[in-house]
Amino acid sequence: MNTLEQVSDLERKYLLGTYARYPVVLERGKGVFLFDTAGKKYLDFVSGIGVNALGHAHPRIVKTIREQAAKLVHVSNLYYHEYQGALAEKLCKLSGLDRAFFGNSGTEAIEGSIKLARLAGHREGGDAKSKLVALDGSYHGRTFGALSLTGQDKHRKGFEPLLEDVAFVKRNDLESLRAAINDNTCALVLEPIFGEGGIYECSPEFLRECRALCDRHKAALIFDEIQCGLGRTGTIFAYQTFGVTPDIVAIAKPIAAGLPLSAFIAKEHFASAINPGQHGTTFGGGPLACRVALEFLSIVEEEKLLDNVNKVGAYLHDKLQEIVDKRGSVATAVRGRGFIQGIQLDIPARPIVDAGLAEGVLFNSTQDTVVRFLPPFLLEEKHVDKGIRVLKKLLSKRNAKAA
Ligand code: PMP
Repeated sequence: MNTLEQVSDLERKYLLGTYARYPVVLERGKGVFLFDTAGKKYLDFVSGIGVNALGHAHPRIVKTIREQAAKLVHVSNLYYHEYQGALAEKLCKLSGLDRAFFGNSGTEAIEGSIKLARLAGHREGGDAKSKLVALDGSYHGRTFGALSLTGQDKHRKGFEPLLEDVAFVKRNDLESLRAAINDNTCALVLEPIFGEGGIYECSPEFLRECRALCDRHKAALIFDEIQCGLGRTGTIFAYQTFGVTPDIVAIAKPIAAGLPLSAFIAKEHFASAINPGQHGTTFGGGPLACRVALEFLSIVEEEKLLDNVNKVGAYLHDKLQEIVDKRGSVATAVRGRGFIQGIQLDIPARPIVDAGLAEGVLFNSTQDTVVRFLPPFLLEEKHVDKGIRVLKKLLSKRNAKAA
């Protein structure tokens, strides 16, 4: 029996049946490459769903983890350590917002954000100011609060009743937005670029109207930048790409280079609504994760990785567009920017991803027909060339089959 069979048999027996994994057991990584237990090499366009922005085994991250693990991994939030305040300061300066709270997952950052917005809403307008607005097709996580904001039936089904008081509007539809927000709204929550939803951008005009309506009705504008933030669009926060600043931003995935860490960062007006004891976590913001996050941000800055995201992201976009433009192509559109892009197919994407694996390239699919690209920030044009060569080959086989 080989390792894949052993590992998958064991999981099938003892794990909840929630994941449909690809048939590969990964063992180690280096830069933009991963290696399986048989030593086969894979080019990584997925980054563990947007987490490994510095690729794998980045020497500075390895060093930082080693050093800090030997000193102090966890203290709880009963005590101070050197790194949580320093990381909060850094994130506040980068975001232009005022105060941060650290959790362990994206979902938790969303939960905390809406809890804060509820407190601020109640302070502003009493119990009635509790309504939430979110977008159709969005994804915000799996806990009851985050799921209640997630505008996709396939994730909600079977878990009802969810939070009432959530109104859904269509992305980029100003009329439905205006109709949904009123003085009882405490928060509007959205992803500036939908990730799980299939890589769809909110237009700057729509985001500006979100900002204006939230100001008018004293509601919190909350951006979920868990997938699109922290550099993927070529700016540290995606909203800096779009020119609209939220009241609260939620971040997670790449912040601690693969260790579990998330944050929400709020303007003082909203941050001041919370008091000691009203929110908390055992693990969130520990010394290991926070120190690694500070190192992550330094590396992004010092290695000028956002310049690379912009340059190589534009190159990737052009190459994907060429695939779409080819006559008879099964690809119909490219969406997104930087290192968060998707190519829309009119055939199922999963077989393409499966076949990519055999070719030594990790692609990812979402919404059944979208191949999604969330590569490490270290990706170079030559890697794009390799990925595109493989993608073209796999798509042309499908073209031939369809014909
Ligand atoms: N929001 C967005 C936009 C996400 O992409 C994700 C994760 N894919 C989440 C929230 C939930 O994050 P986590 O899985 O870390 O809880």
